[in-house]
Amino acid sequence: MIASEKIKRRLKFHRPSLRARARAPKQRTSLGAQFSAANLSSSLAMQHCTHCGYVQYPPTELCGRCLEDALVYRDTIGTGVLLARTELHHSLWEFFKRRLQQGTWVMGSVKLDAGPVVLLHIGDIRLKPRDRVIVFSHSDNSQSVVLIAVPEDCDITESSTRHEIVGSLGLDQPALKEGGI
Ligand SMILES: [Zn+2]
Repeated sequence: MIASEKIKRRLKFHRPSLRARARAPKQRTSLGAQFSAANLSSSLAMQHCTHCGYVQYPPTELCGRCLEDALVYRDTIGTGVLLARTELHHSLWEFFKRRLQQGTWVMGSVKLDAGPVVLLHIGDIRLKPRDRVIVFSHSDNSQSVVLIAVPEDCDITESSTRHEIVGSLGLDQPALKEGGI
């Protein structure tokens, strides 16, 4: 390989803006990584306290209600109410910068029937505050779990349906190797 090609490859590695396929943000704390791992085989798994039954988000080391450390991940029903929504018009992150060229990115907060309030991507732009929603988790193209809300009547029991929704958001775009075109 000639020197100029090597330099080009190195530039692509260090400068996300030069990569053909940017990735979603992947930085997570160790607790965030545990949350991602717990959700790989579940449509939605949340931390439950086995001492008092409290369901919490974001994940922490101690129960937010009784301060016990008896926390386990359990499958959780994702129904809830959309509290608020907002639209992202600008981002410094390359992944979102590119998607914002196609339209605004809709995000929101949902109060789950199970208890906690979660922040998430909104999979249907028609959703508005007080609408009933169902939330599911998905591993994005950085292998980090994100949460997505869709209308409650949307049947998301099939993983193929969930993949379709995620695909329409552009979150499952396969990542190329570093330095790839
Ligand atoms: Zn507790």
